[in-house]
Amino acid sequence: MSRRKIIAGNWKMNVKPSETAALVKAVAEATKDFASVEVVCCTPAIDVPAAVAAAAGTHVGVGTENCHWEDHGAFTGEISTGMILDAGAKYVIVGHSERRQYFGETDETVNKRARAAIAAGLTAIVCIGETLEEREAGKLNEVIERQMKVGLAGVTAADCAKLVIAYEPVWAIGTGKTATPDQAQEVHALIRATLAGLVGAETAETVRIQYGGSMKPSNAAELLAKKDIDGGLIGGAALKAADFAGIVAAANA
Ligand code: PEP
Repeated sequence: MSRRKIIAGNWKMNVKPSETAALVKAVAEATKDFASVEVVCCTPAIDVPAAVAAAAGTHVGVGTENCHWEDHGAFTGEISTGMILDAGAKYVIVGHSERRQYFGETDETVNKRARAAIAAGLTAIVCIGETLEEREAGKLNEVIERQMKVGLAGVTAADCAKLVIAYEPVWAIGTGKTATPDQAQEVHALIRATLAGLVGAETAETVRIQYGGSMKPSNAAELLAKKDIDGGLIGGAALKAADFAGIVAAANA
């Protein structure tokens, strides 16, 4: 089964609206020869209009970093899937570990956001991953299986066309520590097997599973060479077009 590689930047809270067009244009220019790869910039919601305008006519897709599950209403500070679509973005990150750690996100709220995103026609990049404590306590499999089963409850085989899973070991995010390719592949295989139990093996084979956690040009190729690693969710290295393009180049190889 050949799955198109997907490299998505997660800009986090790092780029201002006035800086957005330049970064998107630089990413588009630096990655234009790597057409086999789906290239996405997930930006703060306030940057989306500038990102969409700058990406127009290029191969670069735009996404946001969170969405709410309700269409509208009294949810101060939240953003609906309809608003994201109306602004021209097509992807949304859901359940990033920073949302879980700092903003009370749970597997249940991840599930609501993911289902709302998919139902609206957005591609949901659903993040899962264990903390160092959980890994060291021997709870890796238990945590991944729980995050998958609760986070993706009610997601059907048909919905999987709009689903990307990002495996992000929390201990590797922004720390410079990367899972080894073998460590990452082991968890990606577990994720695919768990997904097969939820939506069937045939559909599970079609779903892209990204690795995230200090991915950079120097380690991307060996991670992306693994059978079940279908792309990357990139934090720090997404903020410099040349670094981001180095990862896209590795995915294109
Ligand atoms: C992330 O936050 O999704 C991430 C993978 O960050 P970094 O690449 O900086 O580790």
